[in-house]
Amino acid sequence: MAANPAPHAASPTLLFLGDDLALDFINTAYGVDEEHQECLGSDAQVLDWLQRAGLPSSLEGVPGRPGALLKAALALREAARKLVEQRKAGNVGDVAPLNRVLALGSAYRELVWSKRQEPAVELRRRVASAEALLVPVAEAVATLLAEGDFELVRRCESSDCTLWFHDHTKSHRRRWCSMAQCGNRQKVAAFRARQKAE
Ligand SMILES: [Zn+2]
Repeated sequence: MAANPAPHAASPTLLFLGDDLALDFINTAYGVDEEHQECLGSDAQVLDWLQRAGLPSSLEGVPGRPGALLKAALALREAARKLVEQRKAGNVGDVAPLNRVLALGSAYRELVWSKRQEPAVELRRRVASAEALLVPVAEAVATLLAEGDFELVRRCESSDCTLWFHDHTKSHRRRWCSMAQCGNRQKVAAFRARQKAE
């Protein structure tokens, strides 16, 4: 891994290693102290994240003040992070902020049928406001909280890493956000500690 990246160099790297959309969203802020990275710094960066996550990401024709999407995204992320932490700790969380976003949802089914394609039912979403673009993310958070196995929803074991992941491995023994990111770093540290002790 490269040493400390130059500050203000490029946008922080977007990480999709949580194996869960909701956790990837929470992971858009990561690192501690001077290593802290914020991936959501503008409406454009939120749209970029949505697009990278494979979600609708166009504000074309959608009314809303500049900055409204960012503000809503940061509020949703904070609510989601708290809810996941509370679920993990076995406590009951405040569902109101999440439900407010869920209530903006306006989905409907459409039958698609053409010469090239057999009839298929597809999900469409009406996006009446910038905030409504976040509905699929809020739905992923709600689904994770209700249906996720929180034995397997874990934080990276690296002491200075804040990243969450959903362990979908067969052995359920995933320990790191990623081997490249933290796994190898910890292995090297353990190796050095062993060498020192010898
Ligand atoms: Zn990590």
